[in-house]
Amino acid sequence: MDLSDLLTDIVATMASAEDRGQVASYIPELAKVDAAQFGIAIATADGRVRTGGDADSGFSIQSISKVFALTLALGKVGDQLWDRVGREPSGNAFNSIVQLEQEQGIPRNPFINAGAIVVSDVNLGGHQPRVAIGEMLRFVRYLTGEDDIIINEDVATSETATGFRNMALANYMRAFGNVRHPVDLVLGSYFHQCAIEMSCRQLALAGRYLMLDGRHPDGGRVVSPSRARRINALMLTCGHYDASGDFAFRVGIPGKSGVGGGILAIVPGRASIAVWSPGLNASGNSQLGTQALEMLARRTGWSVFSPPEEGD
Ligand code: GLU
Repeated sequence: MDLSDLLTDIVATMASAEDRGQVASYIPELAKVDAAQFGIAIATADGRVRTGGDADSGFSIQSISKVFALTLALGKVGDQLWDRVGREPSGNAFNSIVQLEQEQGIPRNPFINAGAIVVSDVNLGGHQPRVAIGEMLRFVRYLTGEDDIIINEDVATSETATGFRNMALANYMRAFGNVRHPVDLVLGSYFHQCAIEMSCRQLALAGRYLMLDGRHPDGGRVVSPSRARRINALMLTCGHYDASGDFAFRVGIPGKSGVGGGILAIVPGRASIAVWSPGLNASGNSQLGTQALEMLARRTGWSVFSPPEEGD
């Protein structure tokens, strides 16, 4: 199977899709994005990158940043992170507050908003937000090898002005002692990390360490093999909020979505894939992005549940 031909097919299929979902509107700046766009990029273990559609257009990575933030936080505090954040699917919406009371301010996992806010608190580590944000930008630039990745300040400002639910989540966890820095600093850092802008091509490059068992393609080590596998496990079980089970069922590979319409998906040992289409389904995940990954997984046989091929 030729991957470039497959990408051409996927782009054509998505171009004619009628139901493109709804662009996120609760962050006003994201509501301005044109829903007609679709991009896809695949970085494979042999070092090649193939792209289709709007693969070089920058978009707001939003919650996909939670994967990189988690990687940094594990590097700082290791397994102690799990005293403050769980590792179970939440079964609730990305911004839900209901479980937090029952579970004493310990979020279910690092990929729901509450969990990512705790991760941002860890990554602040007593510094000002600009230090933590600078570290995050350096990290994604190192992962991609591209120095032009930026934060879209308009998106960060837009979310700062309207992120009332995240403020509620952070204040609530502060009351339980699970957010330790002032809430405005933690959210300043969180909103800016969500406002990082990347293209599909850049995002596929950034995910390569999770395809390569924790290695950077230049040979350096980003995380240990066991940590890379665990991050992938969390992406599979928790990466799509209350639709994580459905994504695992339909696509069968670890993935993390964001309300900007992007999804990063990892086929261990084979590929790091980024798709983007701004319209979301009812669970807040890219409508066409999910469909594209389903089509790709079906045509390639790339599911983590597939038996190894001969020669693997
Ligand atoms: N910045 C968004 C929020 O906190 C991220 C949510 C997402 O991408 O799913 O609401």
